[in-house]
Amino acid sequence: MKVLVINAGSSSLKYQLFNMANNDVLAKGRVERIGMDSAILVHEPKDKEEIKEVSEILEHTTAIRKVLDKLVDKQQGVLVSIDEIDAVGHRVVHGGEAFSGSVIVDDSVKKEITRLIDLAPLHNPAALLGLSAVQTNMPNVPNVFTFDTAFHQTMPKSAYMYAIPTIFYTKHKVRRYGAHGTSHLYVGERTAEFLGRPIEELKIISCHIGNGASVTAIDGGKSVDTSMGMTPLEGLMMGTRSGDIDPAVVTYAMGKEDLTVSEANSMLNKHSGLLAISKISSDMREVTEAMEAGDQNAQLAFDMYIYRLRKYIGAYAAAMDGVDAIVFTAGVGENSVVVREAVCTKLNFLGVEFDSERNKTGRGFDKRISKDTSKVEVLVIPTNEEWMIARDTFELVSKK
Ligand code: ADP
Repeated sequence: MKVLVINAGSSSLKYQLFNMANNDVLAKGRVERIGMDSAILVHEPKDKEEIKEVSEILEHTTAIRKVLDKLVDKQQGVLVSIDEIDAVGHRVVHGGEAFSGSVIVDDSVKKEITRLIDLAPLHNPAALLGLSAVQTNMPNVPNVFTFDTAFHQTMPKSAYMYAIPTIFYTKHKVRRYGAHGTSHLYVGERTAEFLGRPIEELKIISCHIGNGASVTAIDGGKSVDTSMGMTPLEGLMMGTRSGDIDPAVVTYAMGKEDLTVSEANSMLNKHSGLLAISKISSDMREVTEAMEAGDQNAQLAFDMYIYRLRKYIGAYAAAMDGVDAIVFTAGVGENSVVVREAVCTKLNFLGVEFDSERNKTGRGFDKRISKDTSKVEVLVIPTNEEWMIARDTFELVSKK
């Protein structure tokens, strides 16, 4: 079976085509700047040369059509016919309380996702655009939705409720939903495999730190708490997001600077985090380089980032009454030797014995960065959300 995985944003679209028979990625790529006359399509077929094309792509339906054309292209294609695609899996950011796992898309699923647009106004409409684009181009192929929030639906009420009047929950669905669930689930499963132990026995703290960042406490294979909240703004300090903040600061700042709701949202989501404190960049690579060159703002941004991550690791060890493994994933977690070192060398109280040499070896594969004698395992596991979506799609469609 061949499964196409789509991750649609409002003006972009990423794709990967999997051959489920041997877990192979046949091709991947992306379309950027959808809606513009100079949209960019990058197609990377396995064992063939990459194509980069600039053309007018005004909406997602055209973007998908161009992607399908590339997949069957005589030179750069990997399929003889589009009919070889058996199913399409879509990443959806918000599944609310309705979805605790992936589902085959039907009219009722579509309706529910439309209802949830309120909770993810920037993201869920894009998933629906992606779906409609696929349905227009491939009307007979089954579609599956995989939700970033689904894995966190196992959180107990004590972890997901906010201590505000409950009408906000009952009437407006205000609660913690979390995000990056597909990645945290992948990390949890891979950790159990790597350690050769049943996941039911393990207490894992999964640190997905990329541009967006979240930590999840996984107890016995279930998410029991996660740092992102109703939206991806809560929790860790991120590239451009503030993370945790006294809520009173928001109303205070709005009053002092005469900010509208949308300006306040933009300040917290797009102009905060590493970018605001370093005054240099939201990219950890650039912040680290500036810090190493002696820049004080970059140093402060780095220190705050590390301090907040260590606090969450401590909190989740307390939440689970212990921890067997701490795992790093995503752009910063997989690549930044200095971030991992700064976090882990100060977790001795938990029983972490960090191995600086192992920390420095290679990237792109699962590895242990704690010493063999460490009471708590520390691992790096490159995440693979697309593979999880393909696997769920394959399983659901095979059962149909
Ligand atoms: P997204 O949340 O957009 O999916 P990623 O998981 O791809 O993000 O992470 C992107 C971030 O990873 C970049 O902004 C950059 O800060 C960080 N990153 C990538 N490579 C490195 C590296 N070698 N050292 C430090 N940070 C890195």
